[in-house]
This record gives sequence, C-alpha cells and structure tokens, in this order.
Amino acid sequence: MNDYDLLVVGSANADLVIGVERRPDAGETVLGSDLVVHPGGKGANQAVAAARLGARTALLARVGDDAHGRLLLDSQREAGVDTVGVLVGGAPTGVALITVDPSGDNSIVVSPGANGRLTPDDVRAAGSLFHAARVVSTQLEIPLETVVEVARSLAPDSRFVLNPSPPRPLPGEVLAACDPLIVNEHEAKVILGEAARAGEEPEDWARLLLAKGPRSVVVTLGGEGALVASSDGVLRIPSVKVRAVDTTGAGDSFTAALAWRLGLGESLAEAAAYAARVGAATVTREGAQVSFPTAGEVAAL
Ligand code: ADP
Repeated sequence: MNDYDLLVVGSANADLVIGVERRPDAGETVLGSDLVVHPGGKGANQAVAAARLGARTALLARVGDDAHGRLLLDSQREAGVDTVGVLVGGAPTGVALITVDPSGDNSIVVSPGANGRLTPDDVRAAGSLFHAARVVSTQLEIPLETVVEVARSLAPDSRFVLNPSPPRPLPGEVLAACDPLIVNEHEAKVILGEAARAGEEPEDWARLLLAKGPRSVVVTLGGEGALVASSDGVLRIPSVKVRAVDTTGAGDSFTAALAWRLGLGESLAEAAAYAARVGAATVTREGAQVSFPTAGEVAAL
C-alpha cells in the first residue's frame, strides 16, 4: 500500500518580485513598485500542482529557519502537501530576486540557500518516504549529488520522473533511471550537448535523448503541445487551445500531473495528454502556484 501518489524532491524558494521602469546600471539605484513575495521553486511548485489535482503528495526539501521558510511550509500545507520531509535550517531559505520591466521581461538572481544544503544524507534519512511513494520526481535546483542519491534510493516498484531544469549534463546512472526524462527544447539541447547537432526537429531530439539511456522521454513544446518517446516510438501530444496570459509554472504543473497520472497506471501518452490539459489551464492565469488548476478545473477546460 502506497501512502503517497507522488514524492517530490526539490527546491523551495521565496520569489521576491519588484516592478521597475528600467534596470539599474552598475552603481545605480532605481525605485520600483511594492515588493510582492510568492512561494516558488520547482520542487515546491510541483508538489503544490500535484496536491491541487488531488494527488497524495509529499515534499522532501530544505528551507531556512526564517519567515520565507514559514511561508513555504504554510503554502505547501494549505495545498494539502505532507511536509514531514521538509527540513528546516542550515542556511537561509532559497530566494529568487526578480525585477520585471514594463515589457514583462524578467531579470532574476537566485540564491539557492537551503536548497544547496539538501544533501545525499538527507535523502538517505528519508528512506521511508521513498518506500511509501509510487512515483518520485525531481529537478536540478538542488545539488547534483543529491539527485544521484535520489535515483539510487527508489523503491523497486516506484517510478522516477526528472525535469532537468536548470539543465546541465547528467550522469548515465541518473539518465538510466528516468521514466520519463521531461525536457523543453532548451533543456533537450543542453542535455544532448554536441549530439544535438545531429537533429533539427524535436522528434530528432526525443530519439537522441532516448539513446542516452532513459526508459522514456517527453519533450514539451509550449503552445505546440508535447512529444512522448519510448521503445514504442515517438508520438505527438497536441496542446489544448487556450488564451495564454502567463506561461510561468506550466512546465512544473505539466510534470507534476504527468508523474501523478503515471502512478495511477496510465500509459505515457494518456498521462501526457492529461498533463497537457493541466499545462494549458496553468497558462490561462497569472502567477505560478496560484495558477495551478484543480482536477475539476481541468475537466471543465
Ligand atoms: P516549460 O515551462 O518547462 O518551458 P512548456 O512551456 O513547454 O514548459 O509548457 C509545458 C506544457 O504546458 C506544454 O507541453 C503544453 O502542454 C502546456 N502549455 C504551455 N504553454 C501553452 C500554451 N500557450 N497553450 C496551451 N498549452 C500550453
């Protein structure tokens, strides 16, 4: 009996957002709008997205013993995420300092803080969470050696989903555990490195990625939908037509939804079609966590 549909291992950040007329040059000060603080980070986002859909979800993460850490714990609990695996202390909570100019362009400085202190030992100490989870998902906003330990800690009957964001080359051991590896076009090119030159189309990248060892691959294509690739071949999953207002968080909610549905026993194509509906619903609203839909909203889309 699994206690959790999904265990998310990953980052939790406070997103500190200020609107500016223009960015300061070196040595310059500019005045901006009132500060807005949102809970964020790819791990925290995925956990909230899954819980809002109705998945029994746990988060393994690290936050600081500070106000941002409490904000993140509160937002997880409010969404229904089990925070028994959220460790507190060791460094300040991770922060993303975000300035947004009138054209909507972002400049972002990230301080990983406590995310950088989520260690392989923390993963080993959370063995009971791994044994209780059907699916484990992670991203790359935590140390790579911690991601390697996650891949080594999977229960024999549980499935591993990785969104390698921000992207960097991955050890074969991690790639081999992915089922699926979920990438957008930029992430696909970084993971492939030189090999990306052998292909021009997303279908080519999906095949090239599959050849690097994952059991399956999903390439997300924004408003163009997604591709799923496995030993059964490559299949295009169309997007759901919506009026997009803000694409923030679409990749996170897509990944969470796909991971959850795979754990329920759906095929990769079925799970990706559901995840495409979740991603589409996410882009119809401003913001990240606040834009994630409930299962009812997905059904109504
Ligand atoms: P990322 O945020 O990681 O770059 P994408 O932008 O590819 O990820 O979005 C993930 C998924 O969300 C897409 O595969 C698609 O299913 C859905 N999605 C994203 N943008 C749109 C859009 N404009 N219209 C409909 N669906 C979208």
